Amino acid sequence: MRMLSQVLQAQYGEKVYKLSLSSGCSCPNRDGTLGYGGCTFCSEGGSGDFAAPFAPIETQLAAAKQRIARKTDAKKFIAYFQSYTNTYGDPARLEALYREAIAPEEIVALSVGTRPDCLGAPVMQMLERLNQVKPVWVELGLQTAHDETARQLRRGYPLSVFDDACRRLQAAGLTVIVHIIFGLPGETHEMMLDTVRHVAGLQPDGVKLQMLHVLRGTALGLQYEQTPFPLLELEEYAALIAESAAILPPQTVVHRLTGDAPGPLLIAPEWTRNKKRVLNTIRRALRRAGVENL
Ligand code: SF4
Repeated sequence: MRMLSQVLQAQYGEKVYKLSLSSGCSCPNRDGTLGYGGCTFCSEGGSGDFAAPFAPIETQLAAAKQRIARKTDAKKFIAYFQSYTNTYGDPARLEALYREAIAPEEIVALSVGTRPDCLGAPVMQMLERLNQVKPVWVELGLQTAHDETARQLRRGYPLSVFDDACRRLQAAGLTVIVHIIFGLPGETHEMMLDTVRHVAGLQPDGVKLQMLHVLRGTALGLQYEQTPFPLLELEEYAALIAESAAILPPQTVVHRLTGDAPGPLLIAPEWTRNKKRVLNTIRRALRRAGVENL
């Protein structure tokens, strides 16, 4: 199993860090185009680890570097637009913004988080042009391959739309990264592995695996507080990661083994707060499964 940090280190010969930036986009699942509340698990921050405020790109780059200065002395970066739907807007405005973000030499790639139903022809052409300048990664939040779960999550698109977008992005030579969430309400162990199998069949460049975080201020949080539903235990989650590692194609890079729970918003599960313990448990599960990693 190849982790992103290892791949970047091998490719660039040094550490590469992500700079969280904002494109100023909303999400059709939040602004009323598809719905108002967003996906039931999505927080006000639009499902980003850190929702940077929108400002001129130069200001955002400087602020993002300052935020990570205590954590790393990295000299190379990825311009990372994760929160909300970063292809949902005027392609001309977005192209200018992204060109500016990837212009500095120290920026080695552009990463945009989006939805598969926000990849029309003008957007695809824009991404292809940007991909000629620096590698463009497109992160798609699939979460589950099960349409019934997706309907309950109010994701707002069926699996067929995701499959089609994935193939179009691949045909255009863009780097495709797929987000999967384990522990969604109503899903069994086998259903979660079905999602991994489905994604593996599409041979994406990367995956992000994440435990469901039940957050305050979300529809799912409200649902959980009214009628708590079962959540995965840490050992079960770690076993799912190990099983996924055996299913995913060797060339698919794992970008994430667990998410960072936004502390004050987290309702459950409590164990996700201790990232060190989570990663150690996952490492043990991987070793038990004979998976080389980390
Ligand atoms: S598509 Fe993404 S940003 Fe939009 S509501 Fe769902 S998780 Fe949130």
